[in-house]
Amino acid sequence: MNRPSGKAGFAGVVGDPVVHSLSPRLMAHWISICELDAFYVPFAVRPDGFEIFVRGLARSQAAGLNVTLPHKETALVLADTVSPAAAAIGAANLLTFKAGAVHADNTDAAGFLAALEPANIPYRQSTALVLGAGGAARAVVHALLTSNISRLILTNRNRDRAEQLAADLAPGAEIVDWDERSDVLACSDLVVNATSLGLKGETDLVMDWSAVKTGAVAFDSVYTPLETGFLAEARGAGLVGIDGLDMLIGQARPSFQAFFGRPAPERPDVRPILVGAPGMTA
Ligand code: NAP
Repeated sequence: MNRPSGKAGFAGVVGDPVVHSLSPRLMAHWISICELDAFYVPFAVRPDGFEIFVRGLARSQAAGLNVTLPHKETALVLADTVSPAAAAIGAANLLTFKAGAVHADNTDAAGFLAALEPANIPYRQSTALVLGAGGAARAVVHALLTSNISRLILTNRNRDRAEQLAADLAPGAEIVDWDERSDVLACSDLVVNATSLGLKGETDLVMDWSAVKTGAVAFDSVYTPLETGFLAEARGAGLVGIDGLDMLIGQARPSFQAFFGRPAPERPDVRPILVGAPGMTA
C-alpha cells in the first residue's frame, strides 16, 4: 500500500450512491503498480450538492473526477469547456480541473472501442445492431459512428427514444421495433446490449438467436453479472461474446492518464482484481 505524502495528487469518483463503484479498486491498483504519490476517493454526493462540490474541488489540488449516476448530465452542463465526445453523447463521465476551470469529457465511447479491440471488427464493412437508447447506447452509437460503421440499426423498448437518439446522433440509422429486434440478427455483425436488462435483479434480455451471422460478435454493457443470459445465449449460438467489464476498464484508462499524467499500466492485468470485488459474479 502506497502512503500518500502532503504533496499527493488526488482524484475521485462522484455518484449517488457510489458504494458499488469499481473505480476506486481499479485506480488503486494502477496507482500502486505505478508507485504514484496519489490517491483516489469515492465521493457520495446528492444532486442538490453536486455543483457546489465540483466547483469547490476544482479550486483545490484535485486533478479531477469520474462521474457516475445520476450526475453525468449535470456534469456536462456545469463544465466551463466540453469535449466533442461529451457534447455529442450529451453526458460527461470525466471532469478535469485546471486553474479552477472544469473541463468535461466522455470516455465511455473510447472504453467501448477498447473492449472490442480484440475482436478486430472491420467497422467500415459491418452492420451493428444497438439495443437501447439511454446514456450507454448514446456512447456506443457515437463510438460506432466515429469508427465509420457501414450500417447502424437501433431498437429500443420505447421507440420514440430510439428515434430521438437517431435524430441527435445518427440520422442515417435504421430503427426497428423492439418486438422485431431478433429479425435483424441474420444481417448483424455486431450486436450490442446497451439496455439495463440483465443487470443483477433485472430480467434478462431475451433474443431469438435461431438466425445469426457467422462470425458475429455480441457485446453486453452490463458487467454485474459478467455472464448475462444475453451473453450466454449469444455464445451458445456461436457468436463471440464480450462482457462490459472491459468497457469499464477501457473508459478508466484515459481518466487515469488525465488525472496522473501517465498511461495506466497494462500489466499486471486489473481484470482479476475487479472480478474478485464484492458483488461481482462471473
Ligand atoms: P439508462 O440511460 O437508464 O437507459 C436504460 C435503457 O434500458 C433504456 O434504453 C431502456 O429502455 C432500457 N430498458 C430498461 N428496462 C427495460 C426493459 N424492461 N425492457 C426493455 N428495455 C429496458 O441507462 P444507461 O446509463 O444507458 O445504462 C445501460 C446499461 O449500461 C446499464 O446496465 C449500465 O450499467 C451499463 N453501462 C456500462 C458501462 C460500462 O463501462 N460497461 C458504462 C455505462 C453504462 P426505455 O428507453 O424503453 O426505458
